[in-house]
Amino acid sequence: PPSQNSPLLQGLNAEQLAAVTLPAGHALVLAGAGSGKTRVLTTRIAWLLQTGQVSPGGILAVTFTNKAAKEMSARLSAMLPYNVRGMWIGTFHGLCNRLLRAHHVAAGLPATFQILDTQDQLSAIKRLCKQYNVDEERFPPKQLGWFIAGCKEEGMRPRDVPTQDPDTKKKVELYQLYEDQCQREGVVDFGELMLRSFELLRDDAALRAHYQRRFRFILVDEFQDTNKLQYAWLKQLAGEVVNGHMQSTSSVLAVGDDDQSIYAFRGARVGNMSDFVREFDVQHQIKLEQNYRSYGHILDSANALIEHNSQRLGKNLRTDQGAGEPVRVLEAPTDLDEASWMVGEIKDLVRNDGYSRQEIAVLYRSNAQSRVIESKLFNAGIPYRVYGGMRFFERAEVKHALAYLRLIENPHDDTSFMRVVNFPARGIGARSVETLQETARAAGCSLSDAVTAVGGAAGTKLQGFVAKIDVLREETQGKTLRQTIERMLEVSGLVDFYLSDKEGQDRIENLKELVNAAESFVTQEGFGKDAVALPVDETGAPLTQSLASQGVDTARPLLDLPLGGTDVETGETLSPLQAFLVHAALEAGDNQAQAGQDAVQLMTVHASKGLEFDVVFIGGLEEGLFPHENAMSDRGGLEEERRLMYVAITRARKRLYLSHSQSRMLHGRTTFNLPSRFIDELPEASLKWLSAKGGFGSFAPKNAAGSAWQSGARGQFGTYAAKGPEIFASPPVPVQKAVPGHGIVKGKTVFHTKFGEGKVLAVEGTGDDARAQINFPRHGTKWLALAIAKLTVVD
Ligand code: ATP
Ligand code: MG
Repeated sequence: PPSQNSPLLQGLNAEQLAAVTLPAGHALVLAGAGSGKTRVLTTRIAWLLQTGQVSPGGILAVTFTNKAAKEMSARLSAMLPYNVRGMWIGTFHGLCNRLLRAHHVAAGLPATFQILDTQDQLSAIKRLCKQYNVDEERFPPKQLGWFIAGCKEEGMRPRDVPTQDPDTKKKVELYQLYEDQCQREGVVDFGELMLRSFELLRDDAALRAHYQRRFRFILVDEFQDTNKLQYAWLKQLAGEVVNGHMQSTSSVLAVGDDDQSIYAFRGARVGNMSDFVREFDVQHQIKLEQNYRSYGHILDSANALIEHNSQRLGKNLRTDQGAGEPVRVLEAPTDLDEASWMVGEIKDLVRNDGYSRQEIAVLYRSNAQSRVIESKLFNAGIPYRVYGGMRFFERAEVKHALAYLRLIENPHDDTSFMRVVNFPARGIGARSVETLQETARAAGCSLSDAVTAVGGAAGTKLQGFVAKIDVLREETQGKTLRQTIERMLEVSGLVDFYLSDKEGQDRIENLKELVNAAESFVTQEGFGKDAVALPVDETGAPLTQSLASQGVDTARPLLDLPLGGTDVETGETLSPLQAFLVHAALEAGDNQAQAGQDAVQLMTVHASKGLEFDVVFIGGLEEGLFPHENAMSDRGGLEEERRLMYVAITRARKRLYLSHSQSRMLHGRTTFNLPSRFIDELPEASLKWLSAKGGFGSFAPKNAAGSAWQSGARGQFGTYAAKGPEIFASPPVPVQKAVPGHGIVKGKTVFHTKFGEGKVLAVEGTGDDARAQINFPRHGTKWLALAIAKLTVVD
């Protein structure tokens, strides 16, 4: 019988303990914020592994953000004596990416498929609209993007969309054309990652059966925010539905909180919870009511607020921590004053009260609100980090650099082609590009392939551009990621361009940061991070015999086989560059720029879900802003805003500040807003007004030392020395020349059972991470994972 005395289980309350140690079977934990849902989920994984009920390869856990997935992996490695890299823990997108990489042929995708983020998707749609002379007034590209994303979230391909009116008909036509374009270019957007892997599982019975056998335990955090397709995807993995009921050998644990459902606007369905209970015949439903995160006044405020919603499953939270400090509320005359006050308080909190900056969060409803706060923090010399908004991988210069890298990997990526064909400017005008697009369309080929068919001076220039990329591709064969990026920055002309630009210094810094990001990706995180553990059968034994044939000891825990995005049959794997590009596309949400620094955290309320901080500021609590004007007209919208406010309040452990201002400059105009109704919905007994309620005149600086009205120390932060191009001259990371035990070294000729003979161009990584770049005359250059690929050294 599984041990109940494990140290893992210490400190859990009775309900948590019950949830962690549930017998096999489906279960739902429905509980409020801070009650330990995520902790239960993580601890259950550890417990299942420790008690030997499942091997690491038999677990699939879905989290909401990359940050959450990382935290979960980190906590598991701390609890357990083995490497958890091979485990399937990640976001829906991350897991789908893994699945599609491992089975790209079955999914109808090229091995090197690239991921379009929302911005790329929009430019791809704009390109399409132009090509087909779509009236952009009538069909704005942004709305088309939403339409397509919406269809995919519903699991609908163009042929599945009902077309009653001419407008929808046109949109569906464009959806189809967009799909064709993506397929031709070998790219997938976020919605496609999800839909394509769903279809893969749905249509390939053998594959589905394999994964159903493999994943004995499926665990889903933040279940209330899953959409229809995600739920359907989970069902494919969990088992077969017969007469509306799940016939399943795996156990699904879903944890969630209906009061924190805040993604309805993106298709999230709270109804998935009741569907889950019904369709899976859920045997165990557990409620957690003890909150371990927040002090009493904070929790009372959250409880009182959410009481105002009518559509609730109903639950309450209590705490043993005592009342704590009251919630501080402030009315400021202007948004500038509000931000200055926050900065003054933050200084006090750090200097006098001993809080670390990273334990302080400033939350806001809309991204645009961060600018004022950022500038005040900046002027005060307080380091801060913004999550969301303009993220590192989304900055223009970084996207330009990534576009060059993507073209090195895949010349048919037309979105990247369009982005940099004339950037930096090389005299290729809009007309030439249009001609090229027409030529490509007529020939049914990629832009890159069409350049030879364009005549005249324009053709010469276009061919010159493609030749440049071809040269880069050849030159960087067998080179490290750092060397590849540095060479690309030179050859592309990006560095020269930004050096000659007066405002280019910051952008050079960001490009430098890109090299750093790539390097830390390879060396620290290991590009096997999104690893695909080998498929195993019920006994945990690998399905392919290739490992044994490689002399790899298959008795070791499967976790030690970190094989990044590797085709399980041939061992074909992502190059470090491809793996990095995937990472850049999937992790655009994490701000890399100031990683590691102790910084105040700025983010939207949406981005704060699942997180917790000692101190939380919620600014801009005004009618029209929070609740947002777009959501105020209907009850459903207003209730979602209130859930959002509930999420915001419940992020705080010790201290909570709420503020609103009488006037605010937003989107270029000054508005005068009433205080948010949400403030009125909080219990007066838990609040402490820092300004007289509704009294503008009484607002005054709190004290001289922490006063927001004095200008803060300037200039320590953000004054990085301008360095110039020598930043790219740092010595390259030594290339791993040989992998002990494999005998595969640069220059050797090897034989692969499928690709034949080839020459080794480069070897990277060590141990099970080792992979080699090999040129096969008949199959081209490939990266192979040495632990899987059936390679023998010929000479
Ligand atoms: P959210 O709804 O915001 O995602 P949650 O229900 O997932 O919250 P957790 O993040 O798991 O809650 O837990 C909230 C905090 O309470 C964490 O700091 C966690 O470590 C702590 N915690 C949970 N259970 C216990 C316990 N039994 N004893 C002490 N601390 C606990
Ligand atoms: Mg949680």
